Amino acid sequence: MRVLVFNAGSSSLKLGVFDGEQQVFKASFDRFGPEGCDLKIGGETSRAPQPDLAGAIAAVPALLDRHGVEKIDAVGHRLAHGGTGFTAPVRIDDEVETRIEALTPLAPLHNPAMLQAVRLARQLWPDLPQVAVFDTSFHLTNPARATTYAVPKAWREAGLRRFGFHGTSHRYVAQRAAEALGQDAKDLRIVSIHLGNGASACAVQYGRSIDSSMGMTPLEGLVMGTRSGDVDPGAFGFLQRELGLDIPQIEAALYADSGLKALTGSADMRDVEDRAAAGDLEAQLAINIYAYRARKYLGAYAAAMGGLDAVVLTGGIGENSASMRRRICDGLGFLGLMLDDDLNRAPDLTDRAAPQIQAQGSRVAVIVTETAEQLMIAREVRQLLLRSAPVPRSIPVAVSGRHVHLSADAVEALFGPGYRLNPGAPLRQPGNWVAEERLSLEGPKGRLERVAILGPLRPRTQIEVSRTDSFALGLDAPVRDSGKLDGTPSVRLIGPAGQLDCNGLIVAARHIHTSPADAEAMGLTDGSLIRVRVTGAGGRDLVFDRVLIRVAPGTVTEMHIDTDEANAAGISGAGEGELAGKAVAEL
Ligand code: AMP
Repeated sequence: MRVLVFNAGSSSLKLGVFDGEQQVFKASFDRFGPEGCDLKIGGETSRAPQPDLAGAIAAVPALLDRHGVEKIDAVGHRLAHGGTGFTAPVRIDDEVETRIEALTPLAPLHNPAMLQAVRLARQLWPDLPQVAVFDTSFHLTNPARATTYAVPKAWREAGLRRFGFHGTSHRYVAQRAAEALGQDAKDLRIVSIHLGNGASACAVQYGRSIDSSMGMTPLEGLVMGTRSGDVDPGAFGFLQRELGLDIPQIEAALYADSGLKALTGSADMRDVEDRAAAGDLEAQLAINIYAYRARKYLGAYAAAMGGLDAVVLTGGIGENSASMRRRICDGLGFLGLMLDDDLNRAPDLTDRAAPQIQAQGSRVAVIVTETAEQLMIAREVRQLLLRSAPVPRSIPVAVSGRHVHLSADAVEALFGPGYRLNPGAPLRQPGNWVAEERLSLEGPKGRLERVAILGPLRPRTQIEVSRTDSFALGLDAPVRDSGKLDGTPSVRLIGPAGQLDCNGLIVAARHIHTSPADAEAMGLTDGSLIRVRVTGAGGRDLVFDRVLIRVAPGTVTEMHIDTDEANAAGISGAGEGELAGKAVAEL
């Protein structure tokens, strides 16, 4: 399934296309303005004429076309705020759109552009499923003690509470860290620290977020590029009285003119670190404040979880700044956390690696990894759509009578040089047919007449009979999967123009043909063995064990059994199968 993921902001649009876990396209439109914007594709940046988000989204189909990204199956949208109502990703319809719009007061700076992207994308791709994935959902497991502000009841009743953001990133990196440790996140207490332009820490206790440093809005918590993080709310009164500022002015400054930018003049940690290295005292203080705040949260979350097994660092700063990682982790030996300076210096993060950088003997693992919010959104979209895709509740059961698949040489030997079989009735599997011709089989004990030939031709001749047929022929045909013909007995094939002694005689092992999508929806994997309860008109329901799953693109889901099996299950012609768990041998 190919998923197009949008992360829209008022001044930028990031997009990615994912084919399963593989990112096949990545682009961003940045810094919209009347003169256009910067368009970044891969590592290349150029100027593009789109002045705003609407223009950028409208340009996406042509952009995908130009880069050979052909078919999109679904669109995923990052939404900053899902309030308390959106506990998980949701398929977008008009009602969901209205509910998202109603959340605007909770995230006036973030949700409107994201909602605009939803609307534009629904107009552009009206036939594609569109899914919203919310930054807040992961944190809805936080207990009331973490989400409740100690403020007047009327305020709380109006909706004032802590939510937490960056949920998609925290969820992804916590899972990735657990995977890197070879453990289940359900067994770990992890502090996830996302340090990008926005920054937050999250306590992930046994797989669930129990606290996060961002609150009602993405302002609370850590120091960020242009956002203040924690500030005494008493500041509002002070600033109003002393500087005559009103609430919108204070709020705007806390979002856009605070953080590293306020402390140093630059919101970019690279600049700040360069200046600090050159002896700039303001930059040095800013780095200290930044690291101290993060370390405080790390310690607080270790206490909140009653212990700490791993810390995972991500985001532009967490991924790239060894000195910031070092400063945050300094002095945490009392928690059992010690960094290894060599490992910390330049961890290799290519291909979504998640290297460990703790010192030998550190009880707490420290992991660095790139966040992959878009990948996570694509995963969530896929999971949601596959969960809601109609799962074949029952599997059609087809009865295979005795038949032969012929090689080109065998056709010539039996029907004459240059002969081509005439395709007759099509079979359910696309491209397969029954030939109009028939042939006979002969063994030491007997002969089977008018045996069907199935097309198309195969590289090797295969003769499929039932156990009863094999007794009639006087040959001991083994039960085999299709194509596994080594050591199989020979039988005589008799056609109108000649005969041929040919090995490849088998009793076909019962199996289910299925497509990758149906297999995923049913939780089946290629090559696995399952049990299937089969029901037919004869009232002799039977559970077949060791049914082989064969997954191939373009396949219609169908179970194949032979005539002996069909008789045993009371099926004449067609029946219904129902999954009954793993094969006994696989349990
Ligand atoms: P993000 O929002 O995740 O893209 O992160 C952006 C932040 O990461 C900015 O503050 C960048 O300065 C910072 N960053 C990116 N690369 C580095 C680096 N090599 N060293 C320090 N900070 C970096």
